[in-house]
Amino acid sequence: MSTTNNSTSCTVFVGGSAILSNRILESAVVVCRDSKIVSLGTGKWPKDASVVDLRGGYLSPGFIDLHVHGGNGADFMDGTKQAVETSCLAHLKHGTTTIFPTTTTGSPQQILAMIDACQQVKSQQVDSNIEGVHLYGPYFAADKVGCHSVQGRRDPEGAEFDRYFATGLVRIATCAAELAGARRFYKESKRQGCFITCGHSNASWTEMQLAYKAGMRHVDHFWCAMSSVPSLRQRFNVPMQASMAEFVLMHREMSTEVIADGSHLSPELLEFAYRMKGADRLCLVTDCNRALDQPVGKYRFGNEYDGSWFESDGQVGWSEDGESLASSIVGMDHVVRHMKRSTTASLPEVIRMASLTPAERTGIDKRTGSIQPGKQANLLVLSKQLRVKQVFVRGNRVA
Ligand SMILES: [Zn+2]
Ligand SMILES: [Zn+2]
Repeated sequence: MSTTNNSTSCTVFVGGSAILSNRILESAVVVCRDSKIVSLGTGKWPKDASVVDLRGGYLSPGFIDLHVHGGNGADFMDGTKQAVETSCLAHLKHGTTTIFPTTTTGSPQQILAMIDACQQVKSQQVDSNIEGVHLYGPYFAADKVGCHSVQGRRDPEGAEFDRYFATGLVRIATCAAELAGARRFYKESKRQGCFITCGHSNASWTEMQLAYKAGMRHVDHFWCAMSSVPSLRQRFNVPMQASMAEFVLMHREMSTEVIADGSHLSPELLEFAYRMKGADRLCLVTDCNRALDQPVGKYRFGNEYDGSWFESDGQVGWSEDGESLASSIVGMDHVVRHMKRSTTASLPEVIRMASLTPAERTGIDKRTGSIQPGKQANLLVLSKQLRVKQVFVRGNRVA
């Protein structure tokens, strides 16, 4: 008889409730073997399993963040392996088990260095949470650059973006719909199988229709750096024009995301977005910068040497003139708690917006995004107050 067989690869989560995509399973027994979830139920569990006690709390699917720039002092655009590792680990601790490192505006060299650093970390770390890069900057409208550095903005050109796509790591692609070259960009993004989004844009309804035809299905951070009826009046005067907001609200197929950090949008706006789009078309994102888990003070947004300056007040980032917001400084656990507190969305719906919905939109829901047999064991142990206690990536405890 062997007495040294303690290298079991079977783990069981018991002693609490599992948050499924459409309901809560109380007294849950969730069994994982190697990297996957193998069964879900109540009652008995295999004798060889090592037990993780939920202590009356929850087992949640790991969070999936589509839009995130950095954390714990690092920005993905610093373009080094170390910055990528630091940012990924910071967000793992806040429950993000699938991350899409997001580019800002910047030079082609900076963007290539960022993608390359993400590629290195993804291929070298067994427990890496990197799924793919979100190519976000630099293809923004000149009048909607927001807190990004203006010098790093430009219109899309094939000679440039073909190099990014050639890495095979770009999975989400953003471009303002009104830019010359947007159509070619969308076409190539679609060919690459990317999830296509329009953001930092002052696009009209007509421009959105053309983008939709080309495959665009999502709008970045709803209400932030996007067109509105009043903003389009400045472009087209009267009759007033429908904007990105009306386009998203009127098209069932369009999804969007909210920065539910408590500083960007009021509770009514969060409730409105949830009620209008539903939990299967609204994603929670952090849009978090390097000031996550850092003291208040001045930081660079984007690259550490030439990114634009912002100030963190401990709640959110502010532009240098103090007049506009400059992205969030919180993790996914924070936005989940805030969304739950601020809206009528149920706990399974709030968690869905932070896991299954972004998984479905990016086409990875067969592998991850919910607690379901056959999927990767990307799991979180949460307290009753939704604080992150333990984090598992493909069955391995990482935080
Ligand atoms: Zn933005
Ligand atoms: Zn952003």
